[in-house]
Amino acid sequence: MTDVAVASPDSPVARPQRAAAADGAEPGVDVGKLRKEILAELIYSVGRTPETASTRDWFVATAFAVRDRIVDKWVKDHAGPQPQKRVYYLSLEFLIGRLLFDALNNLGLTEQVTEALSGLGVDIEKVRAAEPDAALGNGGLGRLAACFMDSMASIGVPAFGYGIRYDHGLFRQGMRDGWQQEYPEDWLSFGNPWEFAHPEIDYRIGFGGYVEQVMDGAGPRHVWRPAETVEAVAFDTPVAGWRGRHVNTLRLWSARAPDPISLDAFNRGDYVGALADRVRIESISKILYPSDETPAGQELRLRQEYFFASASLQDLIHRHLHEHGEVRRLSDHVAIQLNDTHPAIAVPELMRILIDIHGLPWGEAWDITVATFSYTNHTLLPEALESWPVPLMERLLPRHMQIIYMINALELEAARKRRPGDDELLSTISLIDENNGRRVRMGVLAFTGSHKVNGVSALHTDLMKKTVFRELHALHPDRIVNKTNGITFRRWLAQANPRLTATLIEAIGPGLLDDPNELEKLVPLAGDSALHDKLAEARRANKIDLARVIAERNDVWVDPDALFDVQIKRIHEYKRQLLNLLETVAIYNAMRAQPMRAWMPRVKIFAGKAAASYRQAKLTIKLANDIARTVNSDPTMRGLLKVVFLPNYNVSLAECIIPAADLSEQISTAGMEASGTGNMKLALNGALTIGTLDGANVEIREHVGDDNIFIFGLTAEEVEARKRRGFDARAAVEASPMLRQVLDSIRDGVFSPDDPTRYRDLVEGLLNHDTFLVTADFDAYFAAQRQVFKKWRDRSSWMRSSVINTAKVGWFSSDRTIGEYASEIWNVTPSVG
Ligand SMILES: *Cc1c(COP(=O)(O)O)cnc(C)c1O
Repeated sequence: MTDVAVASPDSPVARPQRAAAADGAEPGVDVGKLRKEILAELIYSVGRTPETASTRDWFVATAFAVRDRIVDKWVKDHAGPQPQKRVYYLSLEFLIGRLLFDALNNLGLTEQVTEALSGLGVDIEKVRAAEPDAALGNGGLGRLAACFMDSMASIGVPAFGYGIRYDHGLFRQGMRDGWQQEYPEDWLSFGNPWEFAHPEIDYRIGFGGYVEQVMDGAGPRHVWRPAETVEAVAFDTPVAGWRGRHVNTLRLWSARAPDPISLDAFNRGDYVGALADRVRIESISKILYPSDETPAGQELRLRQEYFFASASLQDLIHRHLHEHGEVRRLSDHVAIQLNDTHPAIAVPELMRILIDIHGLPWGEAWDITVATFSYTNHTLLPEALESWPVPLMERLLPRHMQIIYMINALELEAARKRRPGDDELLSTISLIDENNGRRVRMGVLAFTGSHKVNGVSALHTDLMKKTVFRELHALHPDRIVNKTNGITFRRWLAQANPRLTATLIEAIGPGLLDDPNELEKLVPLAGDSALHDKLAEARRANKIDLARVIAERNDVWVDPDALFDVQIKRIHEYKRQLLNLLETVAIYNAMRAQPMRAWMPRVKIFAGKAAASYRQAKLTIKLANDIARTVNSDPTMRGLLKVVFLPNYNVSLAECIIPAADLSEQISTAGMEASGTGNMKLALNGALTIGTLDGANVEIREHVGDDNIFIFGLTAEEVEARKRRGFDARAAVEASPMLRQVLDSIRDGVFSPDDPTRYRDLVEGLLNHDTFLVTADFDAYFAAQRQVFKKWRDRSSWMRSSVINTAKVGWFSSDRTIGEYASEIWNVTPSVG
């Protein structure tokens, strides 16, 4: 990669001037001084002159200058009195994106830095685009962690985020002939100006070996003698909250071999072998597992999980002992949140540390552990529930396996006392799954080791109580709570959509930047035609920007006045991109049959990555591209229908698409999307949702009201009932002539003349076992799309609904979510707001 921007949003399409009021303008920051600082960084830190500097050099120099200001506050925070209690957010994924405008916006420096750079002859939009996305996550779960980091710093929850500093984040998605290609991602290749390497902060992480029982004064004690040791080295990124009031730390661990080279092997002349151990050990932090909603299953993944869980626990206990002297009061000062089950091995790891190292008795150690941990569940899909083979655990983490067996024995005994004779209960709450070749159930481990367990939307939490954790919920009725997800408005409104933000500030004042609930002030203005005009103008400009990106990347020109119908998210069968494609084909067929009808211009926009091993998802991408090619080149369409699959969906592309979206597709099979956060980003930016009653869509509808959202399809209960009865897709297709025709045209190769049988199995599969009830919901979805058309033709009604969406989604701010975690799970008091 060079720093020559290839295509937007990596290249600077004309971005609007950011309204001065759109950030927390820090008074008295001298532009001349900033300019000098940036110049000094360029020369002394980057080693370039303005004459020889590339855009990337300017980015690095600017980032250093901005970072210095964050560090001043960071140092001040650390020098002052230490907080009573800290939160540790353990997550294997942080889907961060770019950080420059995050930092500028939160510090209120956007205007000044823009001006300082412009005085140096440098366009800040080019500098912005030179920053690579930090893509250390797959999708919603990792993005949630990133939004939470911003919110914790903004409302003043003292916190560390802990994760892995992957050398390679999520793969870059390319397209060859319409098929997804995966290319390695290289975000660190030019260094990372935001982070501080701390090679002196290192912890030893053991693997393998055996457990010894030794006798000391107090009785038998267990000592784990690992066969192998890896060092975890810290890399810190300061995270500045809104108006720079508080700065937290994201600490990511990198693996380092204790012995860089085996001199024995080297001296024998085995030069490659001399390095082999090092390569193997350091592979732990090499790459992010790119699968979403399915556990990766390999040994390296388990090594990653233990590596970062252990390093994080050692680190936070070290800090705790330094501040408080003894480990018994840990839960008074420490709250650890497990983001999904990926860090669940931390539960037996804390037990091991408390018992084997600090000599606590089992009962006391267990009470501390449960009081310290809490766990967020992200999925109910059975295939996504993480479990590890017992033999692998036993080989890699022998002491942890002993502890897991002990936890299990005590829990089962307690349950047996409460419900004598209920063997069914015992087998469902057991940490060991005996049905699939003995595996450790990480969900049960996380649940058992936590004082609170949360779902991520009201519906999801409700289903959790009824399905995966039904028996555990009956035994611990106070443990499960709901914390509906949220998004940070600073990134997803103020930074991503400066035009809309400026218009909103003009209408209701800048208070919305500090308090998202202020957006409600828009409600009385929802019918105001002058406001509609301004909003429409802002949106149109955003749509032109996106049209340029589409032209550059896909070589397709789309009409900015058409309805932009957007489905952007990981490609997954349960998210039902296929349902959207079937409707696209239905309309295409109808337009060809009746070319003279007054069709409404529409652009179908898709983006998303498929896991490399997920064949069905990759075929869906190919189908989208095949349909796009056919439709876009059909002269009878006269540009009235365009289909676009934008490659390489990531945070930056999301920031470019969302402000330009009119319609937000949230059409998962009801009961399968835990929450969704893309739905919130789009509604906030004024897109109307077409969606099922799934995840947070349910709550979005409660907030915006029935008239301002298009809900269709089976409910979660109806899906359950249909599945129980045994759903017959063939009957559903027989009952829908339109669907029949759509499936026939796909199966018969209308969109794949180069390989007419390409989609035969896909269509047959749908007819034989339509697991995600695509055919069941098709007619309802098609009808809902016609309602969309009807409303779109009534411009003022559409605009009114759009305003209401923006006005009513303030509740979905991640500041609200974090406030709830703080008071109901962590028992910490935020210092702001
Ligand atoms: C918000 C976001 C997601 C999550 O989208 P959903 O529609 O909730 O699945 C995934 N990837 C990126 C880059 C995002 O910004």
